[in-house]
Amino acid sequence: MIQFVKLLIIIGIFTTSCRGQAKNTVKINMENSTFSVQKTDKEWKESLSPEQYHVLREKGTERPNTGKYNLFFDKGTYFCAGCGQALFTSDSKFRSSCGWPSFDSEIREGNIKYVKDSSFGMERVEIVCSKCGGHLGHVFDDGPTSTGLRYCVNSLSVEFKQADK
Ligand SMILES: [Zn+2]
Repeated sequence: MIQFVKLLIIIGIFTTSCRGQAKNTVKINMENSTFSVQKTDKEWKESLSPEQYHVLREKGTERPNTGKYNLFFDKGTYFCAGCGQALFTSDSKFRSSCGWPSFDSEIREGNIKYVKDSSFGMERVEIVCSKCGGHLGHVFDDGPTSTGLRYCVNSLSVEFKQADK
């Protein structure tokens, strides 16, 4: 019997812009549910590179400034490297000094799941693909754009496809 734990946390994020105080909210849906794409560890290992497996399935983090999409700004869409679900567009990508590809929003609501992460003595919000549960990175409330959010994503978690010309 699988026990589902459903917690809905609303975190109020306050950001300051030059126009004054702006308030954004992120809904955090911590749901210990099953994902529609289910594979065994063996199947994931066969379908991913060892580096991708480590990040997506073991919540690893690529070293900063090493990812192929860190300073990459072609027009197109970023898909989950685990299951192919669309996650981000290049329009939401911004230049960040953090060392990882950074986006200010997901491609559409529901494609990313937000999970409370208390590991390493920090309170963070982990972002995972809503279809396969693959670890993408974390989201922070210090983004420089109007959304106030910074989706800090491992290049290894995503595959870029160029927009049609
Ligand atoms: Zn996925």
